[in-house]
Amino acid sequence: MDYTSNPLATDQDDLTAVLNEDRYARTLANIARRAERLWEDGYTCRQSFQGTFVEAYDVFTPRGERYMVKITPTPKDPFLGDKCTCPSFSKYGECKHHLALQFKLRDEAQAAAYDALEEAEGEWGCDPHHQQPPGEGEGIGKQEKRRHN
Ligand SMILES: [Zn+2]
Repeated sequence: MDYTSNPLATDQDDLTAVLNEDRYARTLANIARRAERLWEDGYTCRQSFQGTFVEAYDVFTPRGERYMVKITPTPKDPFLGDKCTCPSFSKYGECKHHLALQFKLRDEAQAAAYDALEEAEGEWGCDPHHQQPPGEGEGIGKQEKRRHN
């Protein structure tokens, strides 16, 4: 029997490929879920290197283990690409430490962009150094705006 022309074998191979892909997608989803609460779970990080083309961070687990994460602007480059020293990154090319750092850096960039926006709005009279006399409504309005954003 010629197995190479057996349609069932091909289907089985396709199914295996789909299942592997599905398993990989679920693994990535699990990593992302863990990454979202990494800092809440007691992990900490500290920047260990800041260069023009690369940043490096130490991520500490709650038990004190350290993983080194490298972030670059060209994550797809096999030589310059992002890396983490943990087993998950070696196996899947992604891990919660790396993802959590990316989330954190993105959030910080958004916060910085928002701060810049707020400072630009300062021209309209929201000077933080200007002492508002108590009871003036403007200060409360600014608080409200901050909360809704
Ligand atoms: Zn990692």
